[in-house]
Amino acid sequence: MDIQILRQAARTQGTPAYVFDLDAFARRIRHMKKVLGQDIKILYAMKANPFFTRTAAQEADGLEVCSPGEYAICRRAGVPLEKIVLSGVNKEAAHVREVVGDAGISGPAGRSGADALSGPAGTPGPAAYTAESLSQLDLLESCAAKTQGNPLRVLLRLTSGNQFGMDEETILSIIKKRSSYPHLHFTGLQYYSGTQKKQAGKIRKELEQLDALLERIRNELQYEIRELEYGPGFHIPYFEGESPVDEDAMLADFREALDAMAFKGCISLEAGRFLAAPCGSYVTRVVDTKQNQGQNYCIVDGGINHVNYYGQAMAMKIPAIRFLPHPLSPGMPDVQPPGGDSQWTVCGSLCTSGDMLVKNLPLPGLKTGDMLVFDRIGAYAVTEGIYLFLSRRLPAVLTYEKDAGLKLVRGALPTSPFNDGSIQYFEDCIKKENP
Ligand SMILES: *Cc1c(COP(=O)(O)O)cnc(C)c1O
Repeated sequence: MDIQILRQAARTQGTPAYVFDLDAFARRIRHMKKVLGQDIKILYAMKANPFFTRTAAQEADGLEVCSPGEYAICRRAGVPLEKIVLSGVNKEAAHVREVVGDAGISGPAGRSGADALSGPAGTPGPAAYTAESLSQLDLLESCAAKTQGNPLRVLLRLTSGNQFGMDEETILSIIKKRSSYPHLHFTGLQYYSGTQKKQAGKIRKELEQLDALLERIRNELQYEIRELEYGPGFHIPYFEGESPVDEDAMLADFREALDAMAFKGCISLEAGRFLAAPCGSYVTRVVDTKQNQGQNYCIVDGGINHVNYYGQAMAMKIPAIRFLPHPLSPGMPDVQPPGGDSQWTVCGSLCTSGDMLVKNLPLPGLKTGDMLVFDRIGAYAVTEGIYLFLSRRLPAVLTYEKDAGLKLVRGALPTSPFNDGSIQYFEDCIKKENP
């Protein structure tokens, strides 16, 4: 993201702040569809960054929604129900009832021209519900039985050997006794085994296993699964020394793997990190500098509570960082790439020695008031951090679009009310999301 935009964000909203580039995010979805082919549907796994929800609803074929809170965000953003796949390992009964009810209320008439992910045109409700367990199936069946609508479209989630989904034998037995779920239509399988998959070989192997299962369902049960919803968990390089990814080549290779499958139904991809990560930056300001026992330390107003890549002990690696000298520094170029001989260990504002962002980063001439930009932070960091620790403020969140410019989406918010129970001002919201 352009350095002037980041400067403007910091000037108007202060630091620390996240800036998310909605145009870049839209372009990534379009580009991914172009390289993969328009027949491959793309669902945005919104847990990667809910601030991209509205853009995703416009550009992607749908959104993967995993909690009542994520659903509430979608409703407020006006995401059409048929763009939602209701997912999640804990489907709260009251919430599923509400979603099925919402579908009943909005009805087929209000959705003409809608681009349904699957199922007959005009069918009300979310594109699909995933089922991760037998009790989720029972819940979906009982909710569906109470409405007069068409059967709910259900994706059976196959486990990858953890708490998510169900194993093959369970899935086969469900399909076998499908007549006991008269209000559900098992349209697809869902599979996601994890994120940051570096090796194309692992993805190919997963697709082969899925293909084999789909074939088994076809041959042994004479049942046609129409849709495969697959989360590839594509890799995003974050740190110095990681080899860059030729994204187009990787996507083309992935498309080949899809084409090699015997399965000829509809394929939807759930993608989060790959779409969102490159579309966000985080600006933090140096608030203090010191030398302790020969080691240079700079303290920034952010920290590991906001900067979070992927399960890394942050200080061990060097992420994509830009240095923004304070504009008043005489003779300083606007963006000075890290280099030179003065090295700084960058620490955040928390009271823990663990709050170390980078060790020995070369930043010649660094002073209090300068800023650091952490790039490629558009996925997960904005929600995954330990935000309540030390009752520090939440960073401001801004979005950028070429036409609309910078927009403040959330100002810096205090977290102290969460940490002493004085949360009156959030109560309306809380009531809404906890029926
Ligand atoms: C988190 C998640 C994704 C997205 O994973 P990324 O690695 O961020 O692309 C896809 N599908 C499911 C079911 C998920 O839980």
